[in-house]
Amino acid sequence: MAPKPSLYEIVTQQFTHAADLMPLDPDVRKILAKPMNEVTVAFPVKLDNGHIEVFTGYRVQHSNVLGPFKGGLRYHPHVDIDEVRALATWMTWKTAVADIPMGGAKGGIQIDPVKYSMNELEHITRRFTFALGNNIGPDYDIPAPDVNTNAQIMAWILDTYVSTVPPAERQRSFHVVTGKPIELGGSIGRDKATGQGVVYTIELWAKDRNVDLSQTTYIVQGYGNVGSWTARLMKLHGAKLLAAEDHTGSIGNPNGIDADDLAAYVAKTRGVAGYPHAHPITHEAFLSTQADIFIPAALQGQITAETAPLLNVRTIFEGANGPTDLDGDRILAERGIELLPDILCNGGGVIVSYFEWLQNKRSEAWDLDEVDGKLHKRMASAYERVRDTKRSYGDTDWRTAAYIVALRRLERVYTERGIFP
Ligand code: NAD
Repeated sequence: MAPKPSLYEIVTQQFTHAADLMPLDPDVRKILAKPMNEVTVAFPVKLDNGHIEVFTGYRVQHSNVLGPFKGGLRYHPHVDIDEVRALATWMTWKTAVADIPMGGAKGGIQIDPVKYSMNELEHITRRFTFALGNNIGPDYDIPAPDVNTNAQIMAWILDTYVSTVPPAERQRSFHVVTGKPIELGGSIGRDKATGQGVVYTIELWAKDRNVDLSQTTYIVQGYGNVGSWTARLMKLHGAKLLAAEDHTGSIGNPNGIDADDLAAYVAKTRGVAGYPHAHPITHEAFLSTQADIFIPAALQGQITAETAPLLNVRTIFEGANGPTDLDGDRILAERGIELLPDILCNGGGVIVSYFEWLQNKRSEAWDLDEVDGKLHKRMASAYERVRDTKRSYGDTDWRTAAYIVALRRLERVYTERGIFP
């Protein structure tokens, strides 16, 4: 059996497929085929027991042709240069699909955060920020939360970064991160933004297909930021959550699970396992639950040659980045399961991060109606651009159509700017 492609090989094959179909200008293709910059840092931190541990962190900057580099930071034992490279590349496509003036980057630390105390996590985060130095900056490269990072971690990055720049620059450097606590200049609505964007995409799709969401059932993989918010916002439509899973286990209830109650339980216990108003089920039973909609919102590589045949759903909206590999895509297409891709569905996070960055630069604080209204407008136009491109390319799949939208925009910018010197 051929070895499984790495995450970066997956993003490269998706890119190649869309670029061939367009076809993309060959020079632009050469440029976009490689990330611009890759930074790997090794940095020591003194742990609570007095011993030193050396950590490895990454920041990959794929493209800033549309605007400053933008992308999350992930703390996970599997983080490596290949994964970060792939996630950075997806960010470039995502910001281009969303039509915001930002580029693509991603970073992270290879670490299992549950093994460290809050005090240690603070020191690891601060020392990582210091090690990155000028590789990040408020108008250059702006990190945000991703898996196992949150507003608190963004606050530590902000504080460390502003403490290392000259005093006169400190007050105007707060937009070095987004997804900050509101008190430090974070945006209202950023916490739910990715889930909100997924649900806006579902609404737009449902309107096109005449689907009544109050009659739909759905399952969610991952009950962290993206998964729990998506589930809670689907509840507002009256849709029924039949099963959920995260790293602690899988649960199901054919009569429905209350998404808000489950979120409150997970906030206390750190996982869905043991939730008293559902039954524990196996991973296979979770995947084969019969439902209308599946929202993968955990990690990459979940819908594969092994798992795609098990799915019993009609439509998939990707909340996670890269949850479906190339075999997964092929099998879903053969089985007639429609899939709306990550670079369209989960763009809400980076769009509201862009809003946060704009508010900081303008010393403004928008209210939730303004944030949600502007997010909806951007999600709707991204959805329509991708849908119309899908139609104009002989009803190609949603993923390829989203790539074509992104690559056309990048191609236009390169053609207009030309290449220095
Ligand atoms: P999070 O850390 O808040 O939640 C991650 C969830 O995945 C947790 O519920 C965890 O238990 C679950 N999980 C981990 N390993 C699992 C496994 N093996 N099986 C099942 N579940 C597992 O992270 P998040 O911010 O919600 O990110 C989730 C996904 O969404 C990631 O792919 C991330 O890149 C993507 N994403 C996040 C944002 C954002 O704004 N946070 C934006 C766009 C995309």
